[in-house]
Amino acid sequence: MSRAKLYKGYTRKILRVNLTNKTVRVEEIPNAQLLKFIGGAGLAARMLYDELEPGIDPLSHRNKVIFMTGPLAGTIAPTGSRLGVYTNSPLTGGFFHSSAGGSFAAELKFAGYDGVVIEGASDKPVYLFINNKTAELRSASHLWGEMTYRTHELIKVDLGDEAVQSAVIGPAGERKVRFASVIVGGRALGRGGIGAVLGSKNFKGIAVRGIGRVEVDDMEATLKTTQELIGLMRSNPVTGQSLVNFGTPVLVNANNNLGVFGSRNWQNETFDGAGGLSAETMREKIFVRNKSCFACPIGCSKYTIVTDGPYKGSEVEGPEYENIFALGAMCENDSIETVAAAERLCDDLGMDAVETGVSIAFSMEAREKGLLTEQDTDGLDLTFGNKEVIMPMVRKIGLREGIGDLLADGVKRAAEKIGCGAAEFAMQNKGLSFPGHSARGLPGFALGYATGPRGASHHDARPTGERAGIVPRETLEGKPQYVINVN
Ligand code: SF4
Repeated sequence: MSRAKLYKGYTRKILRVNLTNKTVRVEEIPNAQLLKFIGGAGLAARMLYDELEPGIDPLSHRNKVIFMTGPLAGTIAPTGSRLGVYTNSPLTGGFFHSSAGGSFAAELKFAGYDGVVIEGASDKPVYLFINNKTAELRSASHLWGEMTYRTHELIKVDLGDEAVQSAVIGPAGERKVRFASVIVGGRALGRGGIGAVLGSKNFKGIAVRGIGRVEVDDMEATLKTTQELIGLMRSNPVTGQSLVNFGTPVLVNANNNLGVFGSRNWQNETFDGAGGLSAETMREKIFVRNKSCFACPIGCSKYTIVTDGPYKGSEVEGPEYENIFALGAMCENDSIETVAAAERLCDDLGMDAVETGVSIAFSMEAREKGLLTEQDTDGLDLTFGNKEVIMPMVRKIGLREGIGDLLADGVKRAAEKIGCGAAEFAMQNKGLSFPGHSARGLPGFALGYATGPRGASHHDARPTGERAGIVPRETLEGKPQYVINVN
């Protein structure tokens, strides 16, 4: 018996869905793959490397999308139940992966699968229903055009099961907005345009229901290690206090004070209106309760409802720090209510809120520099600080209407179309917009952006070490090794 046969955690099965032929097949993951590529990310990257031809159009039927979990998903291991999705990105043209929490990954394991490969393209809208070891493609004609949150609800009605978990695209993915996302419950597989790839395949998403369980090798040791990990998390000031009380928005004031919080399309690295966007303001004005992903003791996610003003009643699981940066500071919008409503609209349309906010900020700078006319902007007043323009712009991008169609291909392509030096202020690397951690103020991070396979992703070179003073922020010395270590 090979060592791989001893591994527990995996179901060792994936579903391969060919949308062109309308076939769904169960495949075993070879032991050799499990030995070499531990975890969902390693397995999926290897599969894409083996199966995708070089130089394909990411929005063609030749691209594939892999939904994958790791061996800890569905166990009691804290923060271990994340879902990873992998593809060739229509925004960067390269390998891309995005991950989200929630309960989808655990449910997929309970249904008996480690992952799902989506390939080919359907002639009509469809979705995949996985129900305890069985799986079938169903018509999604009645779901096409629907917003993501409503799609989740309609799928539950369709299947007559309130407990079903789903990962779906919205109108932005259907229109192949190059940064369209996949919405999983209230969480987003945000960056890189995975939703556009699924939209190009006429694939609305996956619904899953499972009542099985995930085996672990040694339950006693698993319980002991889990208790130790929970103890460590609770005693750590970040995972035991900051994230519990404030979530990722705790970074607004921290990064603003450090001078690494981009604003006005990165013309500045602090924002005078940061107080209006801070975690404390969010808690005071719109916070309702914490939400946790499957088996996570931290509960960093904040469920919020706007109680006042034009967006009264808007509910969202967020806003997260990066979205506050993009839809707030980058556009010089200091209203947490507007950010929360805009994040919800991005989620409903199925569109990355970071890329959306940065695109709006880019168009504001283009207008400021006279590279876009009032006619180009459909009569909208694209002045930095005009918070009323955020929601109409989000809608236009998601539906590819007017100026939104230009921005829906990302700032790099929009700048190429505008010309006249617009590329100078299109703040991106490899086509992916910079998130809310300054490349100038965090030099190791700049190196991470430059060398990361996804481009400007804060999940390749993590900012924590430099920001927390674990490694010196001011120097480049030792940073190549630092980037290798954290990548
Ligand atoms: S609740 Fe927050 S910390 Fe916990 S798994 Fe989800 S995203 Fe991660």
